[in-house]
Amino acid sequence: MDLIVEEDAQANTIDEPPKDIPQESMPEENFAADGMAYQPDLAQLSPYDKINFKNLARKDLEFRKIWQNTSGHLDFQDSRTIKTITKAHLNADFGIEIDLPDDRLCPPVPNRFNYVAWIQGLIDSTNPDYTDGYDPNREVVGLDIGTGASAIYTLLLLRMRSNWTMCATDVDKKSFDSAAHNLALNNMLTRTKMLQTIDTNDLIPIKYLGVEKLDFTICNPPFFENEKDMHNSLKGEGKSSKPNAVCTGSEGEMICAGGDLGFVTRLVHESLALRDKVTWYSSMLGKMNSAKAIINLLKKHGVSNWAVGCLEPGGVTKRWIVAWSFGDLRPKNDIARIETIAHEFLPFPTQYKIQLNEQLVMANVFERINKQLSSLDLSWVWDPATSSGLGLAPQNVWNRKYRRQQKAKEAVAGKSSKNLAIHDEDDTKLVALAFRISVFEHPTKVLRIDWLRGSDNVLWESFCGFIHQGFKKNKDQEYQ
Ligand code: SAH
Repeated sequence: MDLIVEEDAQANTIDEPPKDIPQESMPEENFAADGMAYQPDLAQLSPYDKINFKNLARKDLEFRKIWQNTSGHLDFQDSRTIKTITKAHLNADFGIEIDLPDDRLCPPVPNRFNYVAWIQGLIDSTNPDYTDGYDPNREVVGLDIGTGASAIYTLLLLRMRSNWTMCATDVDKKSFDSAAHNLALNNMLTRTKMLQTIDTNDLIPIKYLGVEKLDFTICNPPFFENEKDMHNSLKGEGKSSKPNAVCTGSEGEMICAGGDLGFVTRLVHESLALRDKVTWYSSMLGKMNSAKAIINLLKKHGVSNWAVGCLEPGGVTKRWIVAWSFGDLRPKNDIARIETIAHEFLPFPTQYKIQLNEQLVMANVFERINKQLSSLDLSWVWDPATSSGLGLAPQNVWNRKYRRQQKAKEAVAGKSSKNLAIHDEDDTKLVALAFRISVFEHPTKVLRIDWLRGSDNVLWESFCGFIHQGFKKNKDQEYQ
């Protein structure tokens, strides 16, 4: 395979910080009151924003030498510099060591990590147990499609989440062997099922991986359709500024039939057959138009549960991420919907906010919610510690007709027949709508409803309308 050492526009950009913007970094070095270095919680690091090379130079000796020799004017066309930056980030920020062959992609860590953080958010916000946030006890299995010589996604995911395991594939022997070496270097080989595959095989070869189900796939596909497409892009054609980092990717890493769109279209077609064998299918895409085309394809096939994100660490190279599911667990709004893409490409909102009257006393707000929810034939549990409650409804139990029938039944039975609709809360098939209601006092008083499960957005909207009705202004006096 040819070695390409040219300016990269697509898959291998180290994001140079814009000159006039103050540089910050994730994770910052923090110190506790006793002067000891504070260890950030690796399981839940926030995404990179700006890249702080000065800080990196402080933390990594090899990079410090380059930083000092160039007086801070890094040469992003120098493959050694690029490799040293990647190694320094992995080592300083995650305690990961890697070896990289010279003729394979050197992944920019901020871009890759931000995709990993997005996937973690997606998985955390769609826990079948409805846990709010990271659940350290949850076992999660992912598949890294085309893991590459670095195995970067697998390394980051396993390093951050101790209860997660991974499967990793690649078609390229050299990359595959190098990935296995990097996993071994970090004692992660036992937590990874590796499979060297061939391009005519499925991208998700689930039966050869020896797993029943996967929680997610993660993938950075080859972005280009052919050499011409790649070389034009590497030269920066059609862009306002030239790409800023050298690309060491081999042809197999950069080119495939149909480019990023062709690869992810294949993934969509496989998912239509595999359906809920995988909870979240996902991939990165190089261009916004590719992301749009994938969302249109999903819509065409009736997939209504998807998420779209944008990666732009350092504010230089934009990448897109799309994930989709055949299940009915709904991800948080801030993960599934980025506002920088046209509305038609966004999934249905999963959050509804009600601005409360500032005069309301919080204890009365809680009482009012509980009263409203407890009067319904659904499962409802309020947690005073978090000022939030979880509700599971088997159907529309809040419409007038249902409530009237319920009252009549209760009258005949002479006792409450409430909550008979969901006998077993574990039997998620009986849940048509799962939601969380949370109340916030600061900066203003707000009631928020999150859609956690359900495939019917009309039902969800109707429920939000019902709750909102209970907080109409004219009812407020009673609760002040
Ligand atoms: N995940 C790495 C590498 C991405 S490059 C990173 O993010 O840096 C794309 C990778 O996909 C290459 O390693 C290439 O060999 C691999 N690949 C291409 N076609 C594939 C296929 N059909 N199945 C699995 N991997 C494939």
